[in-house]
Amino acid sequence: MIIKKNLKGLDLPELQKFVEELGEKKYRAVQLYGWLYAKSAQSFDEMTDISKEFRAVLASVASISNLQLVTKNISKDGTTKFLFGLEDGLAIESVLIPSAKKTSEEDKRLTLCVSTQVGCPLDCKFCATGAMGFARNLNSGEIIDQVIQAQQNSKKRITNLVYMGMGEPFLNYENVMKSIDVINDGRGLNIGARHITISTAGYVDKIRQLADEKRPVKLALSLHSLDNEKRTKLMPITKKFPVDTLIDALDYYYQKKRSRPTFEYILFDGFNDTPADIKAFKQLSKRIPCKVNLIPFHSISFINPSGIGVLLKPTPAQNIEVFANALREAGITVMVRSSYGQDIQAACGQLAVIESKVRSKKTEGI
Ligand code: SAH
Repeated sequence: MIIKKNLKGLDLPELQKFVEELGEKKYRAVQLYGWLYAKSAQSFDEMTDISKEFRAVLASVASISNLQLVTKNISKDGTTKFLFGLEDGLAIESVLIPSAKKTSEEDKRLTLCVSTQVGCPLDCKFCATGAMGFARNLNSGEIIDQVIQAQQNSKKRITNLVYMGMGEPFLNYENVMKSIDVINDGRGLNIGARHITISTAGYVDKIRQLADEKRPVKLALSLHSLDNEKRTKLMPITKKFPVDTLIDALDYYYQKKRSRPTFEYILFDGFNDTPADIKAFKQLSKRIPCKVNLIPFHSISFINPSGIGVLLKPTPAQNIEVFANALREAGITVMVRSSYGQDIQAACGQLAVIESKVRSKKTEGI
């Protein structure tokens, strides 16, 4: 039996190599690339400007693997959560978030939040995905296809992409970067690099690697505390990369890129919203110009959290404003993130495929 080569996820040089091995001219690869990505073809039959003969050859040796839509939930606020099935029976979620500025005709922003892994090994205590354990990395095709399928399904063009769904993008660096190259490419999915944000729990080596690269994508760090002890309680990854090494890496990133990283910060009542935390942020902003995204804590009670996860409570809205204003007074740019999609468990940190097979594969991860 021939094992067919899945073409979705290949970049142009890889497609060129593939067509040359079939004895075809290089330009065929450009055609294929355009069909796979810009025109989002789901099968070879759709590729009408490619000869029938070559399409038959392609169908005999290659395939186009498509994510299967399992369910789609639409929130009261318009947020849409997709559950996609993968070829091996596992599943992932992607979330489509409409623009907040509903009144402005001009604001056509449509953001997709994509997953990079099935589950996540990092076990952050406030995150539903963390509680579900880790199964595997997604390949580049599975990352790219979330954009293609969400676009096809919604019949709208996605303008912004955030790598903030299930998983840790920097544990799947190669596939994430390959997906970005295709998604960003004008002949591919054509989403501007400045409209693409990668969010990390804090892999120091990879932050530095990204700083040394040309890709002008944006970087966000899930910080949640500047206090090493507190952050370790929330995010065990801090044992491997302590807060000071993280800040050094972010400083390096800023120096190299001259692009301000975003610090994501979930506010937990009485835990990381105190005057001492404000002071620590002010100190940090003297070193790195900060952009802070304050995130209300979204309930994960539906996964029955344990340990510190039970004790964490959201900071009340009025105290979030107090915290935000204190940072603004220090010249820090602050955004308070809206809590889209909570009613369908599609908000930040709520993604978890509860019935998935990955549940049995919980690992320590670091
Ligand atoms: N692993 C990456 C990307 C996935 S998490 C990272 O850590 O950045 C995406 C964002 O959702 C992160 O900022 C994360 O801290 C936040 N998040 C996780 N659980 C949350 C919750 N219960 N409420 C609010 N935000 C949460």
